[in-house]
Amino acid sequence: MRLALQGARVAAAQGEVPVGAVVVRDDEWLATGWNAPVAGHDPTAHAEIRALRDAARVLGNYRLDGCTLYVTLEPCLMCAGAMLHARLARVVFGAVDPKTGAGGSVLDVFGDKRLNHQTQVCGGVLAHDCSVLLQEFFADRRSERRARAEPLREDALRTPEACFAALDGAEHARYVRDLPALDGLRLHYEDWGSPGAPTGWLLVHGPRGWSLEWRHLAAALAELGQRVIVPDLIGFGRSDKLKKEAAYSLQGQAGALAQLLRRLGMERVVLVVPGSEWARAWATRLQPLCVGTQVVPEPVLTPQAADAPYPDAGHRAGQRALARRQAHEETERAVEAASLTTVQALGLPTAFTFDGPEDARLLARRAVEYFAL
Ligand SMILES: [Zn+2]
Repeated sequence: MRLALQGARVAAAQGEVPVGAVVVRDDEWLATGWNAPVAGHDPTAHAEIRALRDAARVLGNYRLDGCTLYVTLEPCLMCAGAMLHARLARVVFGAVDPKTGAGGSVLDVFGDKRLNHQTQVCGGVLAHDCSVLLQEFFADRRSERRARAEPLREDALRTPEACFAALDGAEHARYVRDLPALDGLRLHYEDWGSPGAPTGWLLVHGPRGWSLEWRHLAAALAELGQRVIVPDLIGFGRSDKLKKEAAYSLQGQAGALAQLLRRLGMERVVLVVPGSEWARAWATRLQPLCVGTQVVPEPVLTPQAADAPYPDAGHRAGQRALARRQAHEETERAVEAASLTTVQALGLPTAFTFDGPEDARLLARRAVEYFAL
């Protein structure tokens, strides 16, 4: 079934409904098939049919006596019929299909004594993995459709959803467009943990990063019952990107973040930001919503993950604008002194880094104790 799941993932990567099938005889692998009706303009190109065809070719026989077919989703009527014609001994499926399943859900083709051959059937094997794959696929497709339905400002770019395909699922992703400060731009943010809690954490990425860099810390804080908001600044990650560098301002970005927090009913947040210069810039601009500022080392993304939102230089205007802006923070530093909390204040070593889930859990525990939200 794990091999069949691999087939299903190939289908998903090709934009097909993720179903995979494997044919085995005497513990020997014969063929793998995955769903491909869209690409081949072929309504019969189900994973099972394709695996049966390949297995028959390998054996040089259209009868698959003694063979077992593993498939991630309960077979449909067509595939069940093909299996009976092939005299398949046994079919093992993962998730049930309550809409078109012919292995017992809607019809029970394999157990019908009126037919001349009965194939043994067994369902529910790795059912969770098989159905999660399908659910994620349909959720992605829905969010993509929603994204397409949302207009894009003429002076802005939007990273195609496909650029994020190889990265972690976006189950926490939310989008907002109607905040006054956004002026029609679409902002992406993640909302983790206790929904509706008025206090929580705002994790703002660094000038070269994007929201993905906080995934371990957000998960760790959410595990501790905290609410966590992780935005992509305009010009970064999954948010819209203005084409002109000059169109970006820290004030504008901070205004959007403050409006977002109010929209989400967040009255008090601890700000978490990489690097003290950067932290100071946000802390001053997010008063009075921000009750503390935790400075941390910036989590490292793989080059592939770091570059995913920026398919070309045009998408990087926001990065360039904010990197240049950072150089000007020097003057600002003298003017004000927002109080920053360092990792040392949490009892962690100066050289602390948190690139994995375990470090993130340690940091989250200490920070939750320290700020006692
Ligand atoms: Zn089918």
